[in-house]
Amino acid sequence: MAKKKTHEEFVQQVFTEIGEEYIVLGKYQGSMKKVKMKHVKCGNVYETTTGSFLNKKSRCKRCTYERVTKSRTKTQRQFEHEVFELVKDEYEVLGQYITTHTDIKIKHNVCGNEYMVRPHNFLQGARCSECRRKELSNRTRKSHRSFLQEVFKRVGEEYVILGTYKGANSSSSYNFTNVPQNPYISRLAGLRGNRTHQTWHAGLKQF
Ligand SMILES: [Zn+2]
Ligand SMILES: [Zn+2]
Repeated sequence: MAKKKTHEEFVQQVFTEIGEEYIVLGKYQGSMKKVKMKHVKCGNVYETTTGSFLNKKSRCKRCTYERVTKSRTKTQRQFEHEVFELVKDEYEVLGQYITTHTDIKIKHNVCGNEYMVRPHNFLQGARCSECRRKELSNRTRKSHRSFLQEVFKRVGEEYVILGTYKGANSSSSYNFTNVPQNPYISRLAGLRGNRTHQTWHAGLKQF
């Protein structure tokens, strides 16, 4: 069994390994017992087990905390700077930056929307969810209008479109009503005879 370390040996060990940065204030009573330490640099006095102190696990908490906060503030400033470089005043960082994969609150100054986003995703080009939603529905509206025009150009007023155009390939999304006199369309719709009123589905490609 190893010889039990004395108080003097512990003090010597602290000095040899760490230098003058810490002063042992308490009395060493074994590696599992707590002893009062002083961090000279910041004046913080605290108690810790000597074992974890020597293992670097329990150095001055005040300084560790400050170091972490500082590096965090730095990253926050960095992130705000990067955001500004990308979008100028259009977006504003409201939340506290934690990591690049932790959601942070951002405001889109153009529409006023405040939302959560991963810093990484924002820097990769993800933008305001609300504006994106509006833009998509705008696009759908536009293509619906051009779809109406296209159908009218081809068949005049023979058909009335009931649904909303959602893309050339999704054939189940829109309904046409009226008499499908066009044999090509009748075949597509699986219609037989001279039925005069029918609602069915087709895509622009089929038309
Ligand atoms: Zn300290
Ligand atoms: Zn927006």
